[in-house]
Amino acid sequence: MKQFLNYINGEFVATDKTFEKRAPVSNQIIGMVHEAGLAEVDQAVTAAREALKGDWGKLTTVKRVEMLYAVADEINRRFDDFLEAEIADTGKPRSLASHIDIPRGAANFKVFADIIKNVPNETFQMDTPDGGKAINYAIRKPLGVIGVVCPWNLPLLLMTWKVGPALACGNTVVIKPSEETPGTATLLGEVFEKVGVPKGVYNVVHGFGPNSAGEFLTKHQGVNGITFTGETRTGEAIMAAAAKGVRPVSFELGGKNAAIVFEDCDFDKAIAGVTRSAFENCGQVCLGTERVYVQRPIFDKFVAALKAKAEGLKVGPPNEPGVGLGPLISAEHKEKVTSYYAKAVAEGATVVTGGGSPKMADELKNGHWVEPTIWTGLPETATVIREEIFGPCCHIAPFDTEEEAIALANNTTYGLATSVWTENIGRAHRMAEAIEVGLCWINSWFLRDLRTPFGGAKGSGIGREGGVHSLEFYTELRNVCVKL
Ligand code: NAD
Repeated sequence: MKQFLNYINGEFVATDKTFEKRAPVSNQIIGMVHEAGLAEVDQAVTAAREALKGDWGKLTTVKRVEMLYAVADEINRRFDDFLEAEIADTGKPRSLASHIDIPRGAANFKVFADIIKNVPNETFQMDTPDGGKAINYAIRKPLGVIGVVCPWNLPLLLMTWKVGPALACGNTVVIKPSEETPGTATLLGEVFEKVGVPKGVYNVVHGFGPNSAGEFLTKHQGVNGITFTGETRTGEAIMAAAAKGVRPVSFELGGKNAAIVFEDCDFDKAIAGVTRSAFENCGQVCLGTERVYVQRPIFDKFVAALKAKAEGLKVGPPNEPGVGLGPLISAEHKEKVTSYYAKAVAEGATVVTGGGSPKMADELKNGHWVEPTIWTGLPETATVIREEIFGPCCHIAPFDTEEEAIALANNTTYGLATSVWTENIGRAHRMAEAIEVGLCWINSWFLRDLRTPFGGAKGSGIGREGGVHSLEFYTELRNVCVKL
């Protein structure tokens, strides 16, 4: 049976405490994960601190950039291994993982290597009281050891999105992957070893959150900053841990994202876009749409068309051709999602389609499958309109005016993303200005340029990562003032 080991100071490390990794498609055990305790987490943080002082800390930027390029090239060379690991971890369709997760996993190293190579420093010249001059310039220093706590929905992509810039800036990392998805982070250890990145730069500790590796890592005073993607509630616990030692955090948290569809939209594009945003990755995307607001004149037509799309999605295992919807990540998550399916009905929803679990072949019947689901008819106070579900489902409600659409979109404690569908350019910009989110897509969704700021407003996060914005978190700016 496959063993998922910790990766500490350049060595794969077993522990005597293990837990099962199960396949989302069948619920069968596919491996054992070696849980890191306090001692292993301490070893990893210590190794990361030592690496800062050692060869890694002394590398020139050019050399560091070359190494990160080599990491990306090695991921691409082992594309199929990463693809298999990602699919085993998540059960997502092969087509999705091969188009998004693995290429992005590699790209995250190259993009930030390029940024660190090209970013300018700011300088200011000033007059001094004695009639002379001084120049100021700012230099960037690595923050130190970065604790990286990751979710399970896009495990490789979201982990490298943090590790890429952290290493580009000269930091070292200790990663705590989700307990649900230990595969790709472990495999990446082999890549770092092959490329010859110094020991202790990249470390992986497996385990859970509370009273396990997640808590041990975030509370460890040898960690200088914590970057976290996951649920808002977990963010609260991590923020409390980071308060001791006043350590900075970068948070990418939950969402309850709205799609706003105007009657003047390109209808087919809007339907295709909302189909993706509601159901891609079985609805397990932080940017996904769980609230759809459609202008009244096209409401019925839109509901019918989205229903047809949802019913046309083939539910199945990763390697089956034409599959559009994989399983949910775990039995526990399926229980959560289906409890929302029941709650929607209890609160009076009209179930347009779905609402249950599909019948699957015998070998898949224990997998965590759910039907793509659409509701209408609920008031804005309904639980499924207020809380993040993280499943393949959405509620569709009608609206009449632009003002009403803005008020509906903003009526949430979250503020991660929105998508607006309209051919009226003025209206598009007005909506972008008015909706309280970190990311606004017009006539698109999840279209990403990695140089742009990424993050959430309100309860959806703290800070922005992406492009030069990542440097704000992963470096300390030091101002040097020189009296001439
Ligand atoms: P989660 O918060 O349950 O877990 C995320 C990670 O935190 C896991 O590695 C977990 O072990 C760890 N953890 C849990 N409790 C902890 C604690 N007390 N201390 C330290 N670590 C702890 O999230 P999840 O279920 O893995 O992921 C789904 C959530 O992530 C959704 O809410 C989704 O919206 C969010 N998400 C956000 C973004 C974004 O960019 N904003 C991207 C992807 C996912």
